[in-house]
Amino acid sequence: MYKRQIINDILDLSKLEAGRLEIESVDFSIHNLCESTLEMLSPVAHGKGLEIGLILDDRIPTMLQGDDGRIRQMLVNLIGNAIKFTDTGGVTLELHLKSNREDQLLIEFSVSDTGVGISKEGQSKLFQKFSQVNTTRKVQGTGLGLAICKELSRLMNGDVGVSSSPGNGSRFWFTAQLRPLPNQEIPDK
Ligand code: ADP
Repeated sequence: MYKRQIINDILDLSKLEAGRLEIESVDFSIHNLCESTLEMLSPVAHGKGLEIGLILDDRIPTMLQGDDGRIRQMLVNLIGNAIKFTDTGGVTLELHLKSNREDQLLIEFSVSDTGVGISKEGQSKLFQKFSQVNTTRKVQGTGLGLAICKELSRLMNGDVGVSSSPGNGSRFWFTAQLRPLPNQEIPDK
């Protein structure tokens, strides 16, 4: 399973570098996507005694158009990392509507944890390929996940970022531009 993940990450990176990774546009429920992703990861979190929570901005319409598979991939990476680097407390996924222009919604997905945190110096390297900053920890990883998130969010006209301090947990976020399906109430600006 773990080997397959490494191979997928390397394939994604080479596709991204070649400009050959295409973002799909399908109709999906953002609620189902968040809930099923958390459901998939909650056994790992609960196995470590961690709480796992979801906060959804109610201005975000349920049905959206975009690449749900790639959004799930980014969420799994951020939530998986948050669980990996947290020993007590919990992890929260939060969705916010950042802007609503001409039928394009900019949605921020953020994952907060109460884990080990990352130094300022470490934070500056995080989104580079093959970078791992908490090297004293015996945790598996390749240092590719966040670099892939950065590229994927850019392909969705978004961005990525982190705020963190050692010992006080971290908050990783990415934004993505998504379209609401027609005939749904458009949220206020
Ligand atoms: P991987 O998890 O495969 O090592 P990532 O690119 O996803 O690769 O993460 C890179 C590094 O960033 C991790 O190895 C870890 O050092 C650090 N990191 C990522 N998320 C967190 C987090 N929530 N808390 C502390 N450190 C983190």
